[in-house]
Amino acid sequence: MIIAKFIKNITEYNKLGKANIFPCKYGCTKCGYMGRLHRHGFYTRNVITRSSSYRIYILRIKCPSCGKTHSLLPSFLIPYYQYSFDAIFLCLYYSYVLEYSYNKIVSRFKELNTQSYFSISNIYSFRKRMSKVTPVTNSFFAHFDEYYYDMHNPEAKRIIEKIKTFIDSNEDFNKSYFIKMPKPFFSKP
Ligand SMILES: [Zn+2]
Repeated sequence: MIIAKFIKNITEYNKLGKANIFPCKYGCTKCGYMGRLHRHGFYTRNVITRSSSYRIYILRIKCPSCGKTHSLLPSFLIPYYQYSFDAIFLCLYYSYVLEYSYNKIVSRFKELNTQSYFSISNIYSFRKRMSKVTPVTNSFFAHFDEYYYDMHNPEAKRIIEKIKTFIDSNEDFNKSYFIKMPKPFFSKP
């Protein structure tokens, strides 16, 4: 899978569907082919944001040399998670940085989306994964001079604050992470 930045936000991406402008991708990670990967149909996938849920089209691309297919995931998604990057990040931010109780986080999510099935078990699962990926996420920040502080003994709270600063400075964290690191953000280590 390839994580790509789209100019459109999730609502517009959803509205445009197959008519989106999909970035061209070059180079196959499997066989080392350097040329352009070909478009190879779509599949649909659910995504739940803070305020809504969608069923969106994901473009598949195929290497003409080895035949391997890759999915072109917009960077508002986290692979294998139904919740969007923003929704998961907000939950982590509430929990680790603002230190909201689990009940308070659930009620915040219900305020944002009255149809939401968001529950305490989501918080458990996001926190569990975050604790596992904290060391590797810490090492992502070693690529940037301005984020190269508090590097030893990383705490989830500090890492989430760094991600927040990164996002607030108009960077696409999820896409940058994908480019610099061996696995996408929030992947099982
Ligand atoms: Zn290939």
